[in-house]
Amino acid sequence: MKRIVLTGFRGTGKTEIGKVLSSRLNAAFIDTDELIEKKTGRSIPDIFHYEGEERFRSIEREVMASLPQKDVIVSTGGGVVCNPKNMEYLRRNSTVILLVADIDTIEERLLKKPRPPLTGLPLHKEIAEMMDRRRQNYYASSDFCFDTTETSAVIAGEKIIELLNNGSSGQVQRNTAIAFFKSGRLPPVPLIKLTEILTGPERDPKTRIMGVAGFPCAHSRSPNLFNALFEYYQLNFHYTWFEDPELDEIMNIARGIDAKGLSVTIPFKKDVIEYLDEIDEHGAQKIGAVNTVVFACGTAIGYNTDWLGVRKPLVSMKGAKAVLLGAGGVAAGAAYALTDLDMDVTILNRTLENAKILAERFGCKSATWDEFDRIKPDLVVNATPLGMQPDTRNPLREDQLQKDMTVFDLVYTPPLTPLIEAARAKGCPTITGLEMFIEQAREQFYLFFGIDVPAEKVRELVQ
Ligand code: NAP
Repeated sequence: MKRIVLTGFRGTGKTEIGKVLSSRLNAAFIDTDELIEKKTGRSIPDIFHYEGEERFRSIEREVMASLPQKDVIVSTGGGVVCNPKNMEYLRRNSTVILLVADIDTIEERLLKKPRPPLTGLPLHKEIAEMMDRRRQNYYASSDFCFDTTETSAVIAGEKIIELLNNGSSGQVQRNTAIAFFKSGRLPPVPLIKLTEILTGPERDPKTRIMGVAGFPCAHSRSPNLFNALFEYYQLNFHYTWFEDPELDEIMNIARGIDAKGLSVTIPFKKDVIEYLDEIDEHGAQKIGAVNTVVFACGTAIGYNTDWLGVRKPLVSMKGAKAVLLGAGGVAAGAAYALTDLDMDVTILNRTLENAKILAERFGCKSATWDEFDRIKPDLVVNATPLGMQPDTRNPLREDQLQKDMTVFDLVYTPPLTPLIEAARAKGCPTITGLEMFIEQAREQFYLFFGIDVPAEKVRELVQ
């Protein structure tokens, strides 16, 4: 039997339900907190008190790495999910079930079996604040989510076994999905694979589907990258193309098969917002566009990782004088990233009005293309499609490039665009669009699975 891992806040029933599953499935039961206490000969509060949190987290990682991978039910400590390395160990070859319950129920359960407080806050407030802080990590940790609010451990155990045996989507919805993928532009090989996964006689009900939503999106590199990462981290997921002109249709299909999440691309990054329960206030809300949707525990949450893909390669250029070429969807994320790095940003665009609107939103300046030479920037970011295959145009003339000017071309097909080639010939430091793709994909993977993929691994898989 594949390892079953239970995650969730304390008081959600991990130990009791874990023991029920252990006896029903004839598998061993391991409580990771107990294992840590046994290994160190100290209680967890004592480890925190005498050796500090860092030491506790290091022991915790060692314990996660040493767990058996088969015939075992693992109940984890409430904060385990916050460490990406733990998630890498726990998710490998496992089915992870997130247990949730409402705050009043958790409080009631914790009051019955007093445990040391985690903060100085009153219990109800402590639960609310800590659950909120860890929520994204809990959602990322889960293959499935189960609400234990109104169930005894025995009934919860039975229902979880049912979930493991049947999966979380009905046959009608799975057949509807196959009809959708058949009517679209999914090539024959991926279609056969998806049909086997969703409706084949050997179907593993625990395999979860996710994909890229767009029109068109057949060119997207995300399915190949994500599926290679699933193999590398031994995750029971499959990533495909949700290509359709109607976003409504895509969202219905995704919800019908209980998809884990979607990467969203053109033309849906704005429209998808109306289908979501929440959008992340740090990027998505400010930019007004979502490129990542995480479905978990009945909610759909939208994030934007594009801006992080622009920000990450530029962290060493904080406060620089930057010119942003373009004022479209990707430029909005780039403007947010550059201003987040306290840069002095001027947006140049073919249609000045669009540059003005974007500049106003993010406190930047705007100007026409001809004013480039006057600005003398330290950094140029190209967020137009100029230079994208089959276009061979360079957004800047060669004489506009200066040796000490860093050039970041967000276009990544071809990998070496005319702008990057010209900039390299001039001796400028360059950053290719592939770096943005890699960083935004790493952030997405973290939001979906709680695992921090090294940039080198993504680079190796996309090249
Ligand atoms: P978009 O919303 O259509 O915006 C395009 C922008 O470029 C607009 O400001 C437009 O100006 C300007 N533009 C278009 N054609 C132009 C031309 N011939 N001359 C001068 N300006 C022109 O596109 P987007 O979604 O922001 O995508 C922009 C590029 O980002 C894409 O082409 C893609 O290569 C790249 N991208 C990279 C990644 C990555 O991970 N590296 C991810 C997504 C996208 P107007 O306002 O005048 O129309």
